[in-house]
Formats: sequence, structure tokens, C-alpha cells
Amino acid sequence: MAWKIWKKPKERADEEYRKAYKKGINLGDWRSAYNSLVNAIKLYGEAGYTDRCLECRALACLCLALMYPERKKYWVEASKALRALGGKTISFPKPVNSLDLALECDLRAMELEIKELKSEEEKAKALMSLAQRYNTIKRDLLLVSILQGVNQDGESRGRVLIARAYIHLGNSVLDRDPLKAAEYYRMASLQFSSIGFAREAEDWDAKSKRLQEVRECWVCGRKVVGRDVNFIVLEGRITGYLAGMESGKTLKTFSDEGIVVCIACSSIITTIADRIAKAYYEKMMRALEETRRELLKRIERLESRISRLEWEVRMSRR
Ligand SMILES: [Zn+2]
Repeated sequence: MAWKIWKKPKERADEEYRKAYKKGINLGDWRSAYNSLVNAIKLYGEAGYTDRCLECRALACLCLALMYPERKKYWVEASKALRALGGKTISFPKPVNSLDLALECDLRAMELEIKELKSEEEKAKALMSLAQRYNTIKRDLLLVSILQGVNQDGESRGRVLIARAYIHLGNSVLDRDPLKAAEYYRMASLQFSSIGFAREAEDWDAKSKRLQEVRECWVCGRKVVGRDVNFIVLEGRITGYLAGMESGKTLKTFSDEGIVVCIACSSIITTIADRIAKAYYEKMMRALEETRRELLKRIERLESRISRLEWEVRMSRR
């Protein structure tokens, strides 16, 4: 716009700065805020306002991180830029100490780093130590309120991470020790419940209880612990006679839901079923191909008859 040309860089910078709040930060529109802040950085630089430049840079880095919250490097950059302000109070849009906010950015970057770890045990260990760092924050976390729309203090955030650590520990032993995994999942459930995460608490408690269930496989007769992991219940038919044969047993081999089958027996059944289905499919495709070829031959014969007839008609007209 023409009027902008004769305005001084400082005035234009102030305008961009105000716009970054009015149309961006205050509304949670991080992209709009970022664009205005980038302009403000340039204009404050031209006008020689270094402090304002640094502040806008920190705000811009933060907006960028909020635009791409799953990218670790942006949180690292935001943290660095915020630390460069010292302990200055900034408005985002609530007043917050830049060093406090830098710490939140650091912890968020660490959380993303943990996601990249390969083993479940490593993830659990790292989450436990990250939880301890969150525990030292005795106020509501600004980034959690922005990104998740909930008020959560450092200790509660720590408990979420401890719960997640227990889930990873459970996953790490699930294959060989379902009862131990069930215990870890139960601990996760308790952590969730302690901070009012009712749905998560219920889900992990239910999973823990299913893992503790013990049944006997109808097919091989093995005693198996761990529903959904080591045994499943399949649809099937039981007569009164068969049910009578099982009546003395302490462990259930069937229920109203179906028949108990350990995962080894069920995998044999599904493998054989798959093989049979595949053989049927191939047989059907071969039959279809034969029919197709037969039909093509007939069409060819018909076409040659038609052209012969056409030729005869033409000849008779001469
Ligand atoms: Zn079995």
C-alpha cells in the first residue's frame, strides 16, 4: 500500500508486531502471526531495534513450532530463541517468562526424541526421567493448554508420561510374560485414573484384566494365560454331549461367546483355511479362463461364418 512507503521502519515494524498479536497469536492463527513477525524482524532490524528483533524472532520460532508440533527441530530452535531473551516476560497471549517457556519447548523436543527410540524398554526409561523433569514445574503448562486445550500442571503431565512408560514396559514383556504385562498395564491405568483420565484408565484396566484370564484350549488342551494374546474365542458349535464331557473341568474351554482356542492352534486352523481358500480361488480362475477361451473360439467361428455369408450375398447380387 502506498502510505506504507513514507512511514518509518520503526512505525511499520510496530504495526506488524501489533498485527501478529491481533490477527495471529490472540486467535491461535500461528501462520498469520509467523508471517507478520518475519516482516517485523526485518523492519526492526532496519530501524536498529535489536531487542525487539530478538523478541520477534523468539515469537516467530514458537509460532513455527506450533504450526508443525511434531517436528523436533522447531521446538529446539524455539527454545534457543527464547533463551536468548534471558528471563524476559513475553505475552503469548498470557504473560509468561521466556525461560519457563523455553523449558517447555525443550521437554516437548525430548518427548519427540523418545518417540524415535527403537526399543520399548528404552522408551519407558526415557519417559520416566522426562516425567521427573516435568514434576518440577508447579504451574499449568502453556504448550499443553495451547496444543491440547486442557489445563495440566507439570506433575499431571509427568503422570501421563509415567503411564505411557508403563505401557511400553508392558509391551516389552507381552510376548513372553502376559501376567507381568497385565501388571504394568494396571499400573498405567492407575496413573491415568489419578489425574482423571477416566477413559484411558478404563481401557488399560480392561486390557490388563483380559490378559490375566486363564483358559484351556479346546483343541490341544493346554492351559493358557492371556486373552487376545495367547488365546482367542472363536465361533463354533458345541452339542449338549460335548458340553457334558467338559463339565468336570475347572478351566473353561468354551462359553456363550464361543470356543477357546490357543493362538498356536488357531494359527494352524487359519493357515489351512487360507490354503484351502487359495486353492479354490485358483481352481475357479482356471475354470473361468477355460470358459473364456472356449467362448473366444466360438466367436471366431461365428465371425468367419458371417463374412462367408456376406461374401455369398454380394456374389448373388452381381
Ligand atoms: Zn491349542
